[in-house]
Amino acid sequence: MRDLEKLGWDDAWNAAFQRYDSEDRLAGRVAVQHRGAYDILTEAGDRRSRITSRMRRETARNELPVVGDWVVLDASGAITGVLPRRTTISRRAAHEPASGVSREQVIAANVDVVGVVAALGQELDIRLLERYLALALESGAQPVVVLTKADLEADPDRATADLADVGGDVPIRIVSARTGLGLEGVRDVLGAGVTGALLGPSGVGKSTLVNALVDDARLATGEVAADGSGRHTTTRRELVLLPGGGLLIDNPGMREVHLWLGDGGLEDAFDDIAELAAQCRFTDCRHHTEPGCAVRAALETGELSRARWESYQALERELAELADRLERRERSRVRRRPGAGAS
Ligand code: GDP
Ligand code: ZN
Repeated sequence: MRDLEKLGWDDAWNAAFQRYDSEDRLAGRVAVQHRGAYDILTEAGDRRSRITSRMRRETARNELPVVGDWVVLDASGAITGVLPRRTTISRRAAHEPASGVSREQVIAANVDVVGVVAALGQELDIRLLERYLALALESGAQPVVVLTKADLEADPDRATADLADVGGDVPIRIVSARTGLGLEGVRDVLGAGVTGALLGPSGVGKSTLVNALVDDARLATGEVAADGSGRHTTTRRELVLLPGGGLLIDNPGMREVHLWLGDGGLEDAFDDIAELAAQCRFTDCRHHTEPGCAVRAALETGELSRARWESYQALERELAELADRLERRERSRVRRRPGAGAS
């Protein structure tokens, strides 16, 4: 029997599960989403399940199971419910031209820690990092910045020391999958039962890092074996159990998430607020006590909810602080480069 706690199960999940009073039910966690079917990890082994037709009829699209969800199976092994999610990683299509409504699609659920990945040895794209961080913070998970390819950085120890000085709320980990540097620091974040996911543009070393953490070739990084087998024939687990405990979600939706990130970062994620702010009398309105502030007016009428405004402000603060730390670090890196900054 597999221990459900290794998959992230705890007392709170159990309490949510007990509210389903159908008989012969079983809890399981979605490991892979297929077209119309799901691979579910349960105490009694892995199984391929479908959702009941009743559930299909009665469930909104964004509440159908996704990777990471805890689901309830009936006696026949069909999925009858999804336990309320703790966190959701979503991508948002830009404004639908027809309706003007932006559509959200949940791509993974119940991720505890999101690693926003960028590569060292090249200039950091702070704006791009910010966009991924906004997505990570919005999910409700704890964000961690993971700087990969430390072996391409002239002096990774110095880089680590720089970051230690900067401090701040969002932790930063420096790793090299090539030399193994810093992998412990990532494993530490992903303790037993903790679910992580990596976000970042392609080429920064996400799959290599997953491989290094999983320590086997289950997720081929693009290579196809000489006998022609390879990523097409291997069953790809999207929820991977790490040898030292912890889980990682690595699925196609995550890989494509950059397609849904606009240029605006926070403004895109909160385009309703950006639109209101554009209507303020003063272009530099800080939405405090200025006359003619459209944001405050919308808060008063309830058109803009206080919770959304507060989460926007919290995000804005965290992003500004992090961008500041990363920029300082980038500047000190450029200064150290031989021949740089001699002017
Ligand atoms: P992904 O698209 O983010 O999943 O990136 P990949 O894992 O496919 O890696 C992109 C490239 O970076 C590959 O050629 C890797 O071999 C290389 N790479 C990944 N990690 C490291 C590292 O720690 N050091 C170095 N030097 N190269 C790395
Ligand atoms: Zn205003």
